[in-house]
Amino acid sequence: MKNNNNTKTTRRDFLTKSVMAGALLSPSAAGNAVLNVPPTPTGIKKLKITKIESILLTKPLKERFWMALSPIGGYDPKATRVIVYVHTDQRVVGIGEGRDGGVSALMKGFGDLLIGEDPFEVEHIWQKMFNVTISRQGAIKGWGRSSVIGAMAPLDAALWDIMAKTAGLPLYKFLGGRNDPIDCYVTGCYYREGTGERELVEEVERYIKMGYKALKIKVGGVSIDEDVERARIIRKTAGDDFRLMMDVNKGWSLRQSIEASHKLHQFDFTWLEEPLHWYDNVDALVRLKKDCPIPLASGEGEDNRYGARRLLETGAIDFMQFDCHKYAGPTEWLKVAALAASQDVWMAPHHEPQLHGHLMASISNAYILETFGNPNRDPWWFELYTRKPEIVDSKLTLLDEVGIGVEFDKATLKKYGTKIV
Ligand SMILES: [Mg+2]
Repeated sequence: MKNNNNTKTTRRDFLTKSVMAGALLSPSAAGNAVLNVPPTPTGIKKLKITKIESILLTKPLKERFWMALSPIGGYDPKATRVIVYVHTDQRVVGIGEGRDGGVSALMKGFGDLLIGEDPFEVEHIWQKMFNVTISRQGAIKGWGRSSVIGAMAPLDAALWDIMAKTAGLPLYKFLGGRNDPIDCYVTGCYYREGTGERELVEEVERYIKMGYKALKIKVGGVSIDEDVERARIIRKTAGDDFRLMMDVNKGWSLRQSIEASHKLHQFDFTWLEEPLHWYDNVDALVRLKKDCPIPLASGEGEDNRYGARRLLETGAIDFMQFDCHKYAGPTEWLKVAALAASQDVWMAPHHEPQLHGHLMASISNAYILETFGNPNRDPWWFELYTRKPEIVDSKLTLLDEVGIGVEFDKATLKKYGTKIV
């Protein structure tokens, strides 16, 4: 091929042009490309997990708070809470909270899997725990799958607590987040035995007095027309500027969901949560979405990212409610949040704002946190902590304390706690 001398760039031309371009972009930087970076002042911290302890708190509830089909905490209702303490050789102790689903595995020594591990290797440890569900180890040790996923929640949270504490940062900051107040709603208006319209109005008025500007009510436990009347009373009491959501807790069929959503749409609900009966509560959302005037929320029952992905792939939900206090821990929650973000789905996690708040502060698709305003429904929020984030004007502000940052009331631990391991 003939060489065209007019367009050929010689090495000297190239260097001349490059230096000129550098001079145009940044005159002071030209010829000074080696920047002075001082050595990092701290060394790499290597920690080793030495011991796992855990306790189970149990407190009977004073009354039944009925959802559509069942009361909170069972027919003889009780509140439970698991707390794990993950000790290290550097005297940093990670503290994680969870539901009682992991008690059986914890009692049978599941936490020992963490002994000797470096808590900063959180992905490796998470996978080591999860691998129990796809090996014979679970059968041999008597660690059932649901109990493993339940126990992973507080253990994994404790690892994040250790990492943030070691870094000397609140968890939200360790995660790259920012402490802007996060919107909160209160969940209430359960079906309560022996109560009527007067109690319903009083309850909504109490939440307004507490500063709440958003409320999630229970539906699906009476006829659709009776639910419409309850919604009318609640909307009238709360006023037009209040955000309202509703939770069916899997109480309706597809046909009922379509009918009810059309009748309840007039009260301006932000979302309709878990409408469909257990036997067809994912695929049928696609059909419901085509004939439902209210955005849909779901995900509190998913215990891993794969189930959450299947739910997201329906394209039917607008709010993902994955709960890492109950299942699989913050490591999995962050992955679910990223999957949701990729589909423009908001995160609105189920329960436990003291943990989920840190995670919500670190993502781009955070919508709202769930909270409770009645100590008879959720005694732990009111009794368990001597230090916890504040909820003011329907917004939660995280604590600028290292780690997850809460502190437990020793009297409550003593009164309701039993040592598991
Ligand atoms: Mg729910």
